[in-house]
Amino acid sequence: MDYEALRTGPADAPYWQALSEGRLEMQKCQGCGKWTWPAVSRCGECGTWEPEWHAVELKGKLFSWTRTWHPFAGTEGIGTPYVTVLATLPQAGDRRLLGLYEGNESLLALDLPLVGRIATTRFGDQDIPAIRWLPA
Ligand SMILES: [Zn+2]
Repeated sequence: MDYEALRTGPADAPYWQALSEGRLEMQKCQGCGKWTWPAVSRCGECGTWEPEWHAVELKGKLFSWTRTWHPFAGTEGIGTPYVTVLATLPQAGDRRLLGLYEGNESLLALDLPLVGRIATTRFGDQDIPAIRWLPA
């Protein structure tokens, strides 16, 4: 699989570029104001082209999580077991982003306030920017 092509697709390229520069940017429609994730080239609500990208604070609340016990292709650099969380971002229209969890696992509970940091994750033979979530 060509991971570089996944990172530089036309719709989400600004997300990856911002993340690689140490900040989170999310997509918001300039026509109807709807936040969108995954990124799109055209708003599904109002049909506007060229959605805008906005800096978004890396904080949210825990929507769900899962613990992975077995490695799978491309993730050997992470080590097992690891916990992945899905965080809701109220400041971005309640869009949700995935990331590895770095906190005390006994704190995991729905709506746990989270803060994120940008790190890199070894995926295959590349280091890709990724969000790590911790308890706020
Ligand atoms: Zn729209």
